[in-house]
Amino acid sequence: MFHSTRFKLIFSFLCVSFLAGGISLFIGARLLYDAVLMEATNQTRLALNAAEDVYQTHVRFIGLALNITTLGIGFRTSFIERNIPDLVDRLDRMAKNADLDFSGIALSDGRTLCRTGGNAAVDSRTDNPIVRYAMNKGASIAGTITVSRTFLETEAPERAGHIKFYSSQTSCPDAADAEPEESCMAIAAAIPIFEYRTTGRLLGVLYGGRVLNQSTEIVDSARKSAFFDEIQSETTMPAATIFFDTVRIATNMIDQKGNRAVGTRVSGEVKQQVIVRGKEWTQRREDLGDKYISAFMPISDVFGKRVGMLSVATLESNYGAVQRKLIFLFIVATGFGVLSAVGMGYFLARPIMAPVHRLIKASREVSEGNVSPDTGPLSKDREMALLQKTFKDMVESVKRTRMASQNQILQSEKQASVGRLAAGVAHEINNPLTGVLTYTHMLLRRTDINDDIRSDLQVIIESTERVRKIVKGLLDFSRQTKLDPEPTEINRLMDATIKLVENQALLKGVGIHFEAGDNLPMIVLDQNQIQSVFLNMILNALDAAKPSGEITISSRPALSANDIGHPGIEVAIADTGSGMPPEYLSQIFDPFFSTKDVGKGTGLGLSVSLGIVKEHGGTIRVQSEPGKGAAFFIWLPVERQVEQDESAGRGR
Ligand code: ADP
Repeated sequence: MFHSTRFKLIFSFLCVSFLAGGISLFIGARLLYDAVLMEATNQTRLALNAAEDVYQTHVRFIGLALNITTLGIGFRTSFIERNIPDLVDRLDRMAKNADLDFSGIALSDGRTLCRTGGNAAVDSRTDNPIVRYAMNKGASIAGTITVSRTFLETEAPERAGHIKFYSSQTSCPDAADAEPEESCMAIAAAIPIFEYRTTGRLLGVLYGGRVLNQSTEIVDSARKSAFFDEIQSETTMPAATIFFDTVRIATNMIDQKGNRAVGTRVSGEVKQQVIVRGKEWTQRREDLGDKYISAFMPISDVFGKRVGMLSVATLESNYGAVQRKLIFLFIVATGFGVLSAVGMGYFLARPIMAPVHRLIKASREVSEGNVSPDTGPLSKDREMALLQKTFKDMVESVKRTRMASQNQILQSEKQASVGRLAAGVAHEINNPLTGVLTYTHMLLRRTDINDDIRSDLQVIIESTERVRKIVKGLLDFSRQTKLDPEPTEINRLMDATIKLVENQALLKGVGIHFEAGDNLPMIVLDQNQIQSVFLNMILNALDAAKPSGEITISSRPALSANDIGHPGIEVAIADTGSGMPPEYLSQIFDPFFSTKDVGKGTGLGLSVSLGIVKEHGGTIRVQSEPGKGAAFFIWLPVERQVEQDESAGRGR
């Protein structure tokens, strides 16, 4: 099955485009995937900072609420006058407004004067870490604390009944005073009350705080502020979490049952990085059955001890949708690019193929006989232009060959008709000529004729002999003589021929050298005819040669030029004579072509020689340059072909 070149071109183009598209898709998709994940990690880290702001804002808000309460003149009066109902009322209102889980007033000796809900026993002394801090430093404080179950049961019994406590199994190396008792985490503030507003004796401390365990406000508003523009469902929403040690105590992360994942833990590695080493940490891990990108930062209590962590986590699958969308767009863009490349290839292949189609059409025209086909305008592409040029050259050479073969046919026809004419004329002239010669000789033998008549008769004899020579040439040319082949040593034949012209050469002062080839095979030929060929060529060479010139004759085994591998012998006859201009070379084998003076040449020598050599199945070629001499190469085949020719000859 043949495919069109255009199809192949487009197909190759398609393969290359798809390969390039595929590779760029593969690499592009990977890069996009990584870029989206990196972006997601960065976003999560930024969200963590926002969550921390929210956390600190809540801490500062508690401090502010307590501060405002101590600044009121009524508060100081009630405190100094120990007006417990008024103080409790104030504490209740403050706790309600600031959303506090516990608040109270501690005296400078550590006893609690009163607290929210009014359940104070003045002598109760539970360990209140924030009060302890404010007393020791004599300064306001707001921050994170861990408080024991006992503390919370005393301070806010109702709240204590609703939350879960955890024992902090902290492995902080600096946590020598870690609370072994179950505790919870809270944000709290404590404001010292001095004798004179801000100075003087420390009279007591106003404290208050909010328990973080199971609280929702901070984590929910942290999530809102960090991801305010994300519209997602409850389950896929990013989550903010407060950890006490490694336990989630407040979170909006949803577990598999759809509840807030309070009480679940993170890996020890996170604790090691964040709580022990105090570093910010991001990770991509499976948690609660889903893959999360999480960022963590440590939470330190007011004493500077890292007690928990704040974290923000986003579901990796959220970004999966973005990734898929981007990759889909990328695939669409790449596909579009590949398709446009293919489309372009289809149209670009057209101008490439147009000259090819025109050449195909032109080839058909040539095969139908038109040797001037239209190959169209010359292409601008180098290779195509070369192809067009080569095609044109080829057509030119076809044209030349055709003309040459037509010439050859013409030549043969010319030779044949001249031959027929010559044969007829020669026959007719030969007999009367013999009569003329015989009678002239008879007249010469007579004794009663004077010298004048005798010399006239001599002229008649010479002229008649010349006419006879011409007639013989005509007969030779018309192949009236039959071949008489016999095995021959070509070197011997040449030696014998040279002997015939030696004297003539000597007289003209021209040297004849024969370089006889060794081990030449015997060749079956008509010795008389081939000798006349050699003789004619040597005489032509002698005619052309200048005195002191050279004629070099050589013989060698040679394969035929037109019949590849056919063995034969080549005889070369070269001279240093006048040579011939190129236009003569095509004519010298024509009968009656001669450049010699009238009476000197008949113009039949070479045409007769060619006829004889052809009859033997051989060829003659000639090389010559004017002024540099000429060389004739006679190639004769060895026996096999001669036999064929002979049988062909016999059949004629
Ligand atoms: P003729 O010798 O009678 O002229 P040929 O057919 O033998 O006829 O030769 C034809 C012509 O070819 C010669 O007239 C001559 O012009 C040319 N020719 C042949 N052989 C040579 C040669 N060796 N050197 C130069 N010209 C030659």
